[in-house]
Amino acid sequence: MTEQNLSDGFSCPLPVSHHEAIMLGHGSGGSMTSELIQRVFHKYFQSDGLEQKNDAANLLMPDHIHRIAMTTDSHIVTPLFFPGGDIGKLAVCGTVNDLLTAGAVPKWLSAAFILEEGLPIAILEKILESMKKCAEEAQVEIVTGDTKVVERGKGDGIFINTTGIGYIAENFQPGGEKARPGDAVILSGTVGNHGMSVLCARGELGIKADISSDAAPLNEMVRNLRPFAPSVHVLRDPTRGGLSTTLNEIANQSQVGIELDEKLIPISKEVNAVCEMLGFDPYTIANEGKMIIIIPDEIKQEALLAVRSSKYGENAAIIGRVFANQSPMVLLRTILGTHRILDSLSGELLPRIC
Ligand code: MG
Repeated sequence: MTEQNLSDGFSCPLPVSHHEAIMLGHGSGGSMTSELIQRVFHKYFQSDGLEQKNDAANLLMPDHIHRIAMTTDSHIVTPLFFPGGDIGKLAVCGTVNDLLTAGAVPKWLSAAFILEEGLPIAILEKILESMKKCAEEAQVEIVTGDTKVVERGKGDGIFINTTGIGYIAENFQPGGEKARPGDAVILSGTVGNHGMSVLCARGELGIKADISSDAAPLNEMVRNLRPFAPSVHVLRDPTRGGLSTTLNEIANQSQVGIELDEKLIPISKEVNAVCEMLGFDPYTIANEGKMIIIIPDEIKQEALLAVRSSKYGENAAIIGRVFANQSPMVLLRTILGTHRILDSLSGELLPRIC
């Protein structure tokens, strides 16, 4: 249930019919996930951490001084290996990056494995090796774990859940509710690489494109932003649901409008070409190694340099601004100079993407 960045435009949830059943779209990270949480999970689970609606809960320790961040993620990607990554790398990066969005220094991870009978041990080891490498880069330790096995045909090789804990410094506590009119929006690199890489790796559409997943731990990028604390208002990784969904969550949390300039949004030629071919909106495609940074306009150039000088941030760009608006919304100024509203992802575009 993490990715709790669940938008909140559901102040008056519809009653749940007992004939309803879970659909793939409920796992999209978009508006259906958000609605499921508001209408079903929220009835049973309420806490300060969940109320924050951020990717990691910011928790005050019993000493009333220190804070930690805690987050959890499950990974069900298919195929298990794709250009630029695999399920193990995703499981570490996803949780590390969610801790980073809270301004935390990631420290400890748990790793729980649901294995399907028949999974070759060699495949398991390849995934574990990848997790080890990524954990070393992110300077986190895997300190506890769990292993369960389901019968052949009852799983899909391997599912991994990771939970993470990190320290939060007093003056560095970004949150989705802190965007202010006038702030600048920075995106740390190109959009859509992860989703398109996994889609192409499935081979179902017969598309061959040179697209690698961007999966990466963004510790250095966030470390480079620490000198700007407490002015770093929002950090959020645009994973499932992509840039559009993530910015809509922030707009809802902060009750603001966000305007993007399409010509400033970095996108690779290959991702753009595949999206055009398939009619996908690249702004709703998942990323696994990108950060949205929202900061006051007067420090945007310095912050951009700090992001660009970090590993994985060389293509960062200032892509838009926050403005005061009665109702939360995300607007895109298109290359043609017209405006269109960017909505949260509805339904499920690409199931099993992470
Ligand atoms: Mg996230």
